[in-house]
Amino acid sequence: MKILVINCGSSSLKYQLFDMKDESVMAKGIVERIKLDGSFLKHEPAGGDKVEIKAEITDHQIALKMVLEALTHPEYGVIKDLSEISAVGHRVVHAGEKFSGSVKITEEVMDALKECIDLAPLHNPPNIMGIEATKELMPDVPMVGVFDTAFHQTMPEYAFLYGLPYELYKKYGIRRYGFHGTSHKYVSLRAAAILNRPIQELKIVTCHLGNGSSIAAVKGGKSIDTSMGFTPLEGLVMGTRCGDIDPAIVFFIMEKEKMTAAEINNFLNKKCGVLGISNVSSDFRDIEEAAARGNYRAQLALDIFAYNVKKYIGAYAAAMGGIDAVVFTAGIGENSSSMRKKICDGLEFLGIKIDPEKNNTRGREIDVSSETAKVRVLVIPTNEELMIARETMALVK
Ligand code: ADP
Repeated sequence: MKILVINCGSSSLKYQLFDMKDESVMAKGIVERIKLDGSFLKHEPAGGDKVEIKAEITDHQIALKMVLEALTHPEYGVIKDLSEISAVGHRVVHAGEKFSGSVKITEEVMDALKECIDLAPLHNPPNIMGIEATKELMPDVPMVGVFDTAFHQTMPEYAFLYGLPYELYKKYGIRRYGFHGTSHKYVSLRAAAILNRPIQELKIVTCHLGNGSSIAAVKGGKSIDTSMGFTPLEGLVMGTRCGDIDPAIVFFIMEKEKMTAAEINNFLNKKCGVLGISNVSSDFRDIEEAAARGNYRAQLALDIFAYNVKKYIGAYAAAMGGIDAVVFTAGIGENSSSMRKKICDGLEFLGIKIDPEKNNTRGREIDVSSETAKVRVLVIPTNEELMIARETMALVK
């Protein structure tokens, strides 16, 4: 069975075609700058050369048409005919409280996703556009929606409610939803497989540390708490997002800097985090380099980030009543050995201790904990696309 996975952003469309016989990637690529000048498709067939096709790409349907043409192209295509694609899996950011798992896309599902636009005004509209474009071009192929929020729907009410009037939860759906669910689910399942233990008996803290970062407490295979909240702005200090702050700061800045609601929203999402602290970059490679050269604020940004993650690990160990494993994933978690070390240093009291030699690695699955440590520390490259392909296959089979 061949499954196409699609992830639509406001100006981009990422795709991967899987052969589920061995879960291999047949081709992958990205369309960038949709609706903007200089739009192009970058297509990468497995084992072949990358192709870049420049074109005027004015909407997501044109982008998808180009992708389908590339997949079936006589030279750099990987299938003869689109009929070889059995199903399409779509990444969708927000499903509110409507879905606690992936679902086959129907008219009712589309209506439910449209109702969630208010909750994710930047993300859900392009996701919905991607689904609609696929429906137009491949009307008979079954489609599945895989939601970033779904995995966290198992959080108990006392973990997902804020200290706000309960009526606001009922009226507007204001609560913690959590994001990166597909990643947290994938790495927690992998962790159980690596540890060769049933996930039902494990308490795992999964740290997805990338441009956007979030942590989840996964107890018995279920998310019981996570650091992102009503939106992906809450929780850890991130590349450009502020993470947890005193809400009173918002009104203070608005007043002092004469910002509107839209301006402060943009500011807290795009100009804060380690970028704002360091004034160097939002990219941890640049910040680590600057810190190594003695840049004080770059070092401070790293210190703040590590301290933040450390506090959440402690909090989630308490929430779960113990901890068996910590998983590091995504750009920083998979690649930065120094950040992993910085986070784990001082957590020996919890049974967390990494082996510096094993930790000196990047981008591959490995147990980096010292042999005697009670808690396993695992590096697991995330694979959200594969998780989407698996969920899609399970639903259409
Ligand atoms: P996204 O949230 O966009 O998917 P990624 O998971 O790709 O993000 O993570 C991007 C982040 O990972 C960037 O901040 C980047 O600096 C960081 N990163 C990637 N490689 C390294 C590395 N070798 N050392 C430190 N940070 C890294």
